[in-house]
Amino acid sequence: MASALVLNATYEPLGVVPVRRAVTLLLVGKAVPLHSSDRARIRSASLALAVPTVIRLRRYVKVPYRAAVPLTRHGVLRRDRGTCGYCGEKASTLDHVVPRSRGGRHVWENVVACCMRCNGHKGNALVEELGWRLRVPPVMPVGPHVLVARLGEVHPDWAPYVPGVAA
Ligand SMILES: [Zn+2]
Repeated sequence: MASALVLNATYEPLGVVPVRRAVTLLLVGKAVPLHSSDRARIRSASLALAVPTVIRLRRYVKVPYRAAVPLTRHGVLRRDRGTCGYCGEKASTLDHVVPRSRGGRHVWENVVACCMRCNGHKGNALVEELGWRLRVPPVMPVGPHVLVARLGEVHPDWAPYVPGVAA
């Protein structure tokens, strides 16, 4: 494994860097090791270091990737695992939680996957007016979901930090 997973100070995955870069971050004190390979070691004249597989930055870095996730029907169905945000049945449509006719915006936080039945019932009503509740508050998918697509080969040590990755 020639790369290491980098976590933010808050343990959110930021990305994958070459091991050489990860070692540099450790040596200059910008990161701390969380997991290291049992077998591989890096040796130099002054140093023997286990090869890091997961490191965590000491200081939080702000990452402006939130805006990079476009809102699509497919994306919402995937985020909600194809189940209705209200009843949990199989979803095939999208619903604006606050209806557009009542000022609801077309954003991740206001769109849920929805079954035909709930969608038909809901119409232009608010969730509270129907006495319904959302099973899970809708959010924009951040880091991990985007990251998974880019990881390629996945080290087992990474799995606990990246939702959706099987070790
Ligand atoms: Zn439903």
